[in-house]
Amino acid sequence: MSDIKKNIEKIQNIKADAAMACGRNPEDILLCAVTKTRTAEEINEAVDAGITDIGENKVQEIMDKFDSVKPVRWHLIGHLQTNKVKYIIDKVSMIHSVDSVHLAREIDKRAAQHSLVMDILIQVNSAEEESKFGLTTDETEGVIREILDTCPNVRIRGLMCIAPYADNPEDAGVYFREVKNLYNKFSKISHDRLDFKYLSMGMSHDFEVAIREGSNLIRVGTAIFGERDYSRK
Ligand SMILES: *Cc1c(COP(=O)(O)O)cnc(C)c1O
Repeated sequence: MSDIKKNIEKIQNIKADAAMACGRNPEDILLCAVTKTRTAEEINEAVDAGITDIGENKVQEIMDKFDSVKPVRWHLIGHLQTNKVKYIIDKVSMIHSVDSVHLAREIDKRAAQHSLVMDILIQVNSAEEESKFGLTTDETEGVIREILDTCPNVRIRGLMCIAPYADNPEDAGVYFREVKNLYNKFSKISHDRLDFKYLSMGMSHDFEVAIREGSNLIRVGTAIFGERDYSRK
């Protein structure tokens, strides 16, 4: 068995244990394989091993690999510049990294041109790290309401968060919890284009903590494919 397949089985087992430990159904938690810097061949190996959703953080990588990867749902998980939305609007299933009304309006405009409604998540930077994108918890509700008012071709499906890196993954718990509280609060907003289903939290080193805190979409790269070598691409 290949390493990729073995690693996916291992992650699925850890995910299942983490879910059951807090009384949740493992099947309610989606494993999104993060494939940045990985080749189409490596990605297809992951798809053969059962991966249905993949995450990329760069528009260019999606464009380069799109035609060579087997049918799968693509997620844009990294910072998105407005001038690049047009390249991926008809390729991705969901954009996790929306952190401004300006970006949502561009997504809305391009989605309308393709007669589609794009699913988005609002990125929350609950730790308020300067180096990271995302809205503060205080800004989030205002941005959600403005997007609902102005973007008919966008549907808000939930929230996304990247916790600060910490040697002890338990340290991420407090930031995940804060976003889960927002998720519970905003999921009650009644609007035909707000349909909360995804709480995207947790990466290779902290996804067990994220699951415990309520994540239902984990984004895992290194633990599946090994350390990234950015010089390779
Ligand atoms: C790279 C990346 C991941 C995956 O990180 P790993 O530590 O390799 O699991 C998850 N989310 C985002 C937004 C990323 O850019």
